[in-house]
Amino acid sequence: MDITLLAILIIVVALLVVGGSFLVVSRRSVAPGKEETKPEATGEPPTAAPVEDRDRSAEAVATPPAQAPPAEEEAVKPAEPELETPPPSAGRMVRLRARLARSQSSFGQGLLNLLSSDTLDEDTWEEIEDTLITADIGVTSAAQIVDHLRTRVKVLGTRDTDEVRAMLREELLNQIGADTDRAVRTAPHGDRPAVIMVVGVNGTGKTTTTGKLARVLVGDGRSVVLGAADTFRAAATEQLQTWGSRVGAPVVRKEEGADPASVAFDAVSRGIDDGADTVIVDTAGRLHTKTGLMDELGKVKRVVEKKSQVDEVLLVLDATTGQNGLRQARVFAEVVNVTGIALTKLDGTAKGGIIVQVQRELGVPVKLVGLGEGPDDLAPFDPEVFVDAILATD
Ligand code: GDP
Repeated sequence: MDITLLAILIIVVALLVVGGSFLVVSRRSVAPGKEETKPEATGEPPTAAPVEDRDRSAEAVATPPAQAPPAEEEAVKPAEPELETPPPSAGRMVRLRARLARSQSSFGQGLLNLLSSDTLDEDTWEEIEDTLITADIGVTSAAQIVDHLRTRVKVLGTRDTDEVRAMLREELLNQIGADTDRAVRTAPHGDRPAVIMVVGVNGTGKTTTTGKLARVLVGDGRSVVLGAADTFRAAATEQLQTWGSRVGAPVVRKEEGADPASVAFDAVSRGIDDGADTVIVDTAGRLHTKTGLMDELGKVKRVVEKKSQVDEVLLVLDATTGQNGLRQARVFAEVVNVTGIALTKLDGTAKGGIIVQVQRELGVPVKLVGLGEGPDDLAPFDPEVFVDAILATD
């Protein structure tokens, strides 16, 4: 009996000794790794660690020791870029009207004063025509406006300020085209996104307008993919990347000097794969030779059309460049089938009449206007708001 009890006791003690040493061994095989990867133990930021260590420190961040202070947890988290929610396009031109009034009022006020003057003789009519031409409205349109006004003043037999303003408003609206369809075609068709190509001479605000347009569309609830096909300027790609990142629009880009057509093709493919609503392709605008430009833009368009039709070719034009800008616009219009004009920097010129001239010259409507350097300073063009801003008295 005693011997049996003794035997059991020996077995229990032996089991306890073996079990205890096993626990010690297994603890040692796990603990050092954990201890070494603790960020607070080394004091080093996780980004300084080599790739394989970084994985482990990430694991350490994912399952932090219970006693880790929350402040350090925050410090190692990668900063998420905050997405912006741009305002919708509706009412934008009204909001930006003051920018127009500031630069255009001398033109509008000059005309109103002349028309309301006591003597409306030959010299005054000439002055009215000159004022219109100075505002870049174009010789033909200026002559037409003066002709119509002369007749109407005679018929009216009065030069009451309000009546004169109403008459001038009507004439300007007639020249601009109050009922013209100015919608930018951005709606997807079937399972394909709408494709917009943005073209124009460097410096006109092409990349900025592409970025601003993406914001307009995102603000209106659309999903957008951007194509950085101006591969000749690394800065343009970076610029577009920034615009895209701010509103969560993916930017398809390649290295500097890559084939612009292949970037445009990939952007449209990405748009189709993502089920995006609209793809906007920013193109290069070097006016080196007309043939070079023609080849390049023509190729971009052809290659894109292997994937999807091009719905809109927007020509970006700088309102401050006058006749020079118009000459350049003509070259582009010969090269690609321009469907709309984005007139930039209208905030910085008193020559808003360029709207009339460019539409007459190119036969396509101004669809968008740039009214400042701010991200939301691009507006769908509204002729009535434009004319009212010109003729505003306050
Ligand atoms: P790109 O070379 O044609 O792509 O021209 P960018 O997009 O780089 O623009 C050239 C400059 O024009 C930048 O400084 C823009 O901020 C500025 N810009 C673009 N649109 C407008 C506008 O509507 N108003 C003003 N004031 N500046 C603008």
